[in-house]
Amino acid sequence: MHIDGVRYALDFLTQPRSELARPTAAGKVECLACAHRCKLAPGARGVCLVRFRQEDALRVPWGYTAGVAVDPIEKKPFFHLLPGAKALSFGMLGCDMKCAYCQNWFTSQSLRDQAASQEAVPTSPEALVAAARRLGCPVITSTYNEPLITAEWAHDVFALAKEEGIVGTFVSNGHATPEVLDYLADVLAGYKVDLKSFSHENYRRLGGKLDAVKETIRLVWERGIWCEVVTLVVPGFNDSDHELAAMAEFLVSVSPDIPWHLTAFHPDYKMTDPPRTSAATLIRACGIGRQAGLRFVYAGNLPGQVEPWEHTHCPTCGTVLVTRWGFTVLENRLTAQGSCPRCHHSIPGRWRVPVPAPHAH
Ligand code: SF4
Ligand code: SF4
Repeated sequence: MHIDGVRYALDFLTQPRSELARPTAAGKVECLACAHRCKLAPGARGVCLVRFRQEDALRVPWGYTAGVAVDPIEKKPFFHLLPGAKALSFGMLGCDMKCAYCQNWFTSQSLRDQAASQEAVPTSPEALVAAARRLGCPVITSTYNEPLITAEWAHDVFALAKEEGIVGTFVSNGHATPEVLDYLADVLAGYKVDLKSFSHENYRRLGGKLDAVKETIRLVWERGIWCEVVTLVVPGFNDSDHELAAMAEFLVSVSPDIPWHLTAFHPDYKMTDPPRTSAATLIRACGIGRQAGLRFVYAGNLPGQVEPWEHTHCPTCGTVLVTRWGFTVLENRLTAQGSCPRCHHSIPGRWRVPVPAPHAH
């Protein structure tokens, strides 16, 4: 479909919503869903292109998905949230950033790039939650594109899921606002944030702001939402010792218990020059994270090549607690309470499915 047709069709899959909209003194409507904070005149569209103002209302995406799959939660990646669980994962269309290496560009850039081909399929929160239940998924995840730009839809899906004891999670670029985090806090159990670089200039090139992402990590952690951070290590872009150490030191300043995933880049989309990330680079990066004081550092995307950085170790006695190969959990020795079976150190994370809230009817 031509890109104008995609936009036109998607405009019908929207609702007027006020939770993340604020009128400004200048007669505009400010969108609070991401750190761009677009201030929209009548008829204007946000940077993400999927949210727009119609008369006085902010219309936001609602009632569709663009790609649904059952993935292991380790693929998100969450390593400290229900290890081995299946996550019903759904995508939407669009993004508020434009990373040249986006591995999900066919969904995230579908409103900017004619080559992107993923289409929207109408659905409902009820149908998604029923599918999660039927497929034995204790987790439901908004992923594949940027979930913040469809925060109201995620909120409605996750609120219904929570009633069934299914936890909602975000796989996000973390370009959030305090307002959207407050809005989601009750229904969001886990938040994966990409920390793409520690350079303001790199973030500007990707279409976002470093300070907003740092603030998101801090606020998510403070709100008690389980947070894991991912850095795609791109040779020549963000893999210097200095930059990796700066990221790690920042994470330690929030909490040394935040798991940090360092994942291998492969050429994709419009970033085809840098070589693939080597196992040696990932192992070096993991060492920098550990040296800075992070207790849980993982290497991703190179299964079996990055020993011992795919596994979870007890930070007190060194016992291997969870053994992994790529996204597969080979052995989980954590106790039911999420502690080390040897020294009983409590490991930070979310280890048990919460008990569903009683139904109102
Ligand atoms: S989600 Fe972000 S980019 Fe989209 S309209 Fe809102 S503030 Fe702008
Ligand atoms: S923020 Fe994520 S989804 Fe958006 S363009 Fe960048 S990598 Fe892709």
